[in-house]
Amino acid sequence: MSKLSDRAEHYRSEMQEALDYIWKHPETGYQEWQTHAYLADAFRKLGYELVEAGDIPGFYTDLDTGRPGPCLLIMGELDALNCPNHPDNTNGKAHACGHCAQTTALLGVAGALKEEGALDGLSGKIRLMAVPAEELIEIAWRDEIRKEGKIHYFGGKPEFMRRGMMDGVDMAMMIHTTSNKPEHYGGISKGSNGMVAFTAAFEGVASHAGGSPDKGVNALYAANQALSAINAIRETFRDSDHIRVHPIIDIGGNSVNIIPDKVVIESYVRGATMEAILDANRKVDRAMAGAAASIGAKLSISTRPGYYIRLNDTGMALAMKEAMEEILETVHYDMDEWGTGCSDIGDLGAVMPTVHPHISGAVGHGHGDDYYITSFESACMDSAKVQLVFTELLLGNEAARAKEIVANYKPDFATMQDYFDFMDGLISDKEAVRYNEDGTVTLDFA
Ligand SMILES: [Zn+2]
Repeated sequence: MSKLSDRAEHYRSEMQEALDYIWKHPETGYQEWQTHAYLADAFRKLGYELVEAGDIPGFYTDLDTGRPGPCLLIMGELDALNCPNHPDNTNGKAHACGHCAQTTALLGVAGALKEEGALDGLSGKIRLMAVPAEELIEIAWRDEIRKEGKIHYFGGKPEFMRRGMMDGVDMAMMIHTTSNKPEHYGGISKGSNGMVAFTAAFEGVASHAGGSPDKGVNALYAANQALSAINAIRETFRDSDHIRVHPIIDIGGNSVNIIPDKVVIESYVRGATMEAILDANRKVDRAMAGAAASIGAKLSISTRPGYYIRLNDTGMALAMKEAMEEILETVHYDMDEWGTGCSDIGDLGAVMPTVHPHISGAVGHGHGDDYYITSFESACMDSAKVQLVFTELLLGNEAARAKEIVANYKPDFATMQDYFDFMDGLISDKEAVRYNEDGTVTLDFA
């Protein structure tokens, strides 16, 4: 009987087809219906029964070894990015973060685990999951569907947590591609930033831009002042907190001969601890409020929970290192290394042990218009094999290693509900600048 990891080879052609299809059908978060349908069909062909999220894309399926032990969750992300300048874009979207390789690898893992005898020697359960909306984008639209009650969280993983789709899971993993590394390369680091997201709407007064600008209040200049004010506080961010603030302007005015009366800035505040994020976020709000007040514009700020800090569990990271060393040629393991991007696997990590390593097979800038999956072998086949070896390491030997990892894990929140309460506490909508009848101005940035 062949090794479990070698069984992924039996699904080479299905995986190649999947990569090709998903690459050519990029869809952004909570709208990945074509990708969902393709994968759901492929899973069903393998004999899986699926639990679908239903009104949003995504599904999971459970494999039960019939022997007691923890449940290991293995995920693949469905979503792509808005990348209209990517030469290979479809409707302005592209897989410029390589999530198409994750779901392809997941299909190989699913095939291998469904084979006769594949679960022999394993204990516990395995949940395979296609999860939507990792990229926290299109914030205004997501806030709309949040208000409609369709979703509660912007990230697919916390949304699946809220829907109970992570219930029964004890530990979670996924492998993300990384670019411009040699073939058959894997990397494991300490973790990466968390974040909050906000939209700031500057409101001025429209007026004829040539004839009567004196009667207007220019919301674009208010936003411009706000961006300068944010830049002026960057030196107060401590290096060790890894703060990142990177605003964009969604709406910059309507007509060139009208003083802009509404301009919207959208941004994240990222950082290495929630404390640092909230401190920086308060400073950013204060800077924007002061800037708006300086020219008499109004400002409303909507803050939303983004993603929790992502920390790789040490026990899982060590098992991942072993699994990578069995399959790959180069493994970079550095538990001091910190990433300044974010992922919502961090939210799962707040309540259970997780690991989120990287594997080669892509070129270009992550999220850039030169990003391509160039090596199916590394990004998909190696990834599937590493995940299978990892599964054996954790769930073999009566799941001794998985049990040890679960026993040693110290969550930031005792229950998922505690985590939800914390994240929900970050939701705020405030009128940040109020003009009082007595001529004074009140700033609200707390
Ligand atoms: Zn990504």
